[in-house]
Order: sequence, then structure tokens, then C-alpha cells
Amino acid sequence: MTKNLILLGLPGAGKGTQAEKIIADYPMVHISTGDIFRANMKEETELGQKAKAFMDAGNLVPDEITNAMVADRLAQSDVVENGFMLDGYPRNEEQAKFLDQFLADRNDKVSATLYFQVPDQVLVDRLMNRGRADDTKDVIAHRLEVNKKANLPLVDYYENHGVLHTIDGNGELDRIYSDVKTVLDALD
Ligand code: AMP
Repeated sequence: MTKNLILLGLPGAGKGTQAEKIIADYPMVHISTGDIFRANMKEETELGQKAKAFMDAGNLVPDEITNAMVADRLAQSDVVENGFMLDGYPRNEEQAKFLDQFLADRNDKVSATLYFQVPDQVLVDRLMNRGRADDTKDVIAHRLEVNKKANLPLVDYYENHGVLHTIDGNGELDRIYSDVKTVLDALD
């Protein structure tokens, strides 16, 4: 069976690093909606033009546009054959429901959602270290709060659907990845 994964975690939780490790060992196709939007903006495609104003303002691109783009990507043969690892999508419950319905229509489902959990203070420290000089502690703390509000309903959603796996994202990269592998290898 192919595996379909979703990665969840606040900024600084280490999703990107773990995504690279997963992709090196497993066949799933890594799909980052932010990357697809950025590529379309660069190429000045119609999708890129539609998304630009929202992205420039730091807002979410409307679900209608985002869901259509994701559906398009998930229908491609590499994803159908190898499964997917979604990063940056879903961002709200409407998108999560859309994804479930889209997959159900082709007799498929989300296999697991990996939620990388890291204490707030560690996230603030990490973001301070990698952020811009004008990223003050308060601004970073605010960004985390905003993201938390958006993330927690999804954590609940996938928990209620029985596919949530919480990974302790604080500590040694190798230990975190070994916990990820334990989850992935136990999926059928
Ligand atoms: P990211 O790189 O994931 O932070 O995404 C960058 C920007 O792309 C976001 O600020 C949104 O404007 C847009 N975007 C990415 N993923 C989504 C999504 N699932 N729903 C709506 N907008 C998105």
C-alpha cells in the first residue's frame, strides 16, 4: 500500500528537516503548497497571478484556488503510484475535509499525520536564531500564537479521525527521525 502523509507543526518545529530525511528513505512525493505557489509566481502563470496578492499580504490563498491546485497535483501519476507527503496543506478544516473527500472518491485515504510538537520557548529560541534581525521576541511570539490558532483545529481533526501521531520534536535530530520511522514502518 502506498502511504499518504501530512506534516503538521508550528514554524520552527523542524518539519522541513524531517521531510528531507523521510523523502530520502521512502517513495512518497513531497508536496509543499507554498513551494508550488512560489514557483507559479516566478513563472507568472495564471495561478501565480491569482495567488500573488494574497501571498504578498501574508494571507492564505482562498480555499477554492488552493484545493483545485492540490487536487490537480494529487491526480498526477507519480503521486498515485508512490503516495504523498503534504507540507503546508491542509491549513484549515475546510481544506482537510476537501482532501478527505478527494481521496475517498478514489478509494484512498490519509495514512498518517505527523505532528511535530516542540515547547513554545524552544520554538521562540529557534526562530530568534534563524530569523531576521528585526524579528523581536514579541513579534515571534505573536506569529506563533497566530499559527497555533490555525494548527490546533487540524490536530484535533486528525486525532478525531484516528490518524494523528504526535512526535516529540525537541531533541536530537536522529532520535526524532527514529520516532518518525517507527510510525511510518508500522503503517500498512
Ligand atoms: P508556506 O511556504 O507554507 O509558508 O506558504 C507561503 C504562502 O503560500 C502562505 O502564506 C499562503 O499565502 C500560501 N499558502 C501555502 N499553503 C497554503 C494553503 N494550504 N492554503 C492557503 N494558502 C497557502
